[in-house]
Amino acid sequence: MSDHEALRAEVAAAFGPGGELSQADPAYLERSGQTRMADAVTQALGNRDVLVVEAGTGVGKTYAYLVPVLLSGLRTLVSTATKSLQDQLHGRDLPRLTRALGLPARLALLKGRAAYLCQHRLDQARQQAQLPDRAAVRTLARIEKWSVATLTGDLAEVDALDERSPVIPLVTSTRENCLGSDCPKFRSCHVMHARREAMAADVVVVNHHLYFADLALRDSGVAELLPSVDAVIFDEAHQLSEAGVQFLGSHVGTAQLVDLSRDLLAAGLAHARGLRPWNEFAAAIEFSARDLRLVCAGPLRGTAKLRWEERAELPAFAPALQAAALACAAAADALADVLGAAPDLPKLQERALTMAAKLQAFELPVEPERVRWIDLSAHQARLAGSTTRHPRSHARAGSSAGTCLDLHLGHVG
Ligand code: SF4
Repeated sequence: MSDHEALRAEVAAAFGPGGELSQADPAYLERSGQTRMADAVTQALGNRDVLVVEAGTGVGKTYAYLVPVLLSGLRTLVSTATKSLQDQLHGRDLPRLTRALGLPARLALLKGRAAYLCQHRLDQARQQAQLPDRAAVRTLARIEKWSVATLTGDLAEVDALDERSPVIPLVTSTRENCLGSDCPKFRSCHVMHARREAMAADVVVVNHHLYFADLALRDSGVAELLPSVDAVIFDEAHQLSEAGVQFLGSHVGTAQLVDLSRDLLAAGLAHARGLRPWNEFAAAIEFSARDLRLVCAGPLRGTAKLRWEERAELPAFAPALQAAALACAAAADALADVLGAAPDLPKLQERALTMAAKLQAFELPVEPERVRWIDLSAHQARLAGSTTRHPRSHARAGSSAGTCLDLHLGHVG
């Protein structure tokens, strides 16, 4: 019997009467849809093939792909659309299955850097942050207390932390403001630790957004992981398209401008006070962000997706966009003279330059094969652009090192 046939037999036995699954759970019921799917997955893994599966509720889809993955011993990346499924896989299904199958597989959950505490920015926030209200002061105090004990730095561990708290951007990093190996906290950095854990794991769980964003930005560790994995599984694959559009696209939001303005003011006053009028540069960026948001929102409130022409053709739109680009460029010029004062400043200058370039790109006419639109939310307007090509070809190209196993689950929209 070939290895491939042996694996098929092993998977069938695990799901069959008296198999590991029924031994581990007396309530286990064999389901024909689940065993057929598990066999199809096993064959795809063995043949290094692409498989798309659509299966209804109650089939037991996660076990149908996890059992073959675990028994094959292939190093695998599993990507989900939702946080709840990500947590279910890592916190419940994978540990249960590794126990039931008696396998010593190493498991990791990799999130985007915004999910982890940045110790360097926490230090800065302690000293410099201008918090908007008492609730924010209390939240920062709670995060500080938790930060001393946490091993993972995953902010999901902080009890009742509101995802929209204004404190979160102050204590997490972005690709633009992370100091990398120049950081005084680099050795104990939670973001770097999570990536090392993922590199050492047999099965890594991520989400679609992180997967695609990382192919574009190479920032979260997924792109480093991909060449070393044998299989990639997209669960909840009907939501791949949305994530792919973001990966293929470019966007700039007014909230990013406000963050830049606040970081500029804090870093300017901390490291180069009096050398440049940092208040004025920060205010120019913040006002331009507010004007741009108001022009984009018009009379609308709440969340909406607008066609580009609906706003881009308004007389106030181009001047608002230009003012924001000029404010960022002026801040970058001012920073150019003080770069040596602290490692934060070159990063900040790079951010201001990138933001100015993105805003300038949105001033140009829309190219053929590209679309643009505006996402409005309660707090910001986000200018977005993408190609009109389908992201699927990129998903496959990204995983060419191994088997790309699309599990296209649920209703195909
Ligand atoms: S290396 Fe980056 S993410 Fe880590 S603590 Fe430093 S600035 Fe924060």
